[in-house]
Amino acid sequence: MDKKAENILKVNEIFYSIQGESTYAGLPCVFIRLTYCNLRCAYCDTEYAFYEGEDLTFDQILDRVKQFGCNLVEVTGGEPLVQKNALFLMTLLCDAGYEVLLETGGHIDISRVDARVKRIMDIKCPSGGEADKTLFSNIEHLRNSDQVKFVIGDRRDFDYAAEIVRKYRLTEKCPVLFSPVFGKLENKTLAEWILDERLPVRMQIQLQKYIWDAQRRGV
Ligand code: SF4
Repeated sequence: MDKKAENILKVNEIFYSIQGESTYAGLPCVFIRLTYCNLRCAYCDTEYAFYEGEDLTFDQILDRVKQFGCNLVEVTGGEPLVQKNALFLMTLLCDAGYEVLLETGGHIDISRVDARVKRIMDIKCPSGGEADKTLFSNIEHLRNSDQVKFVIGDRRDFDYAAEIVRKYRLTEKCPVLFSPVFGKLENKTLAEWILDERLPVRMQIQLQKYIWDAQRRGV
């Protein structure tokens, strides 16, 4: 690697907002959105992060994060694990005393992520068009501090997710989140399916889309 590039990550945006997803929903959080993703989910709401961004050094990123005065930090994307330096950034954030969350699509190995990081890992469902990319070996690396998220677009997705939850006994490993695709599947419908199936999963909605304009960046 180019010497100058060793310290650098391409960053789409760094912002401070209310955490909208996961069991951390509702808490103030600093988000570091890294550029690039090698998937193209049909429901993606961060396509602007596929290519846009600026090269920042680790020091510049840490300086910007520090300015918000918030101890909870999420590394997200795009797909943050596309950039190898994301692993080192998370370690630096942990060393600096932050509580660090990682949002990842579940198609890249999570085993090398610093053990102090809480990983929120998607398992992609069929309607998004990328379910075949899931790296199921990631499941064996999950800890009870991690979370698994399914984004559900229709009944087929729900049945697929329910089958995986049962097959891998996911709810015994960590919290499992079921989230409706915003604007496609009604919250009430997903709630009814979860209740009917007696699935011990946590339904979540993307809180940020109810607080702010659903199209707004940096939330
Ligand atoms: S993994 Fe995330 S960022 Fe990438 S296409 Fe899917 S939803 Fe968008």
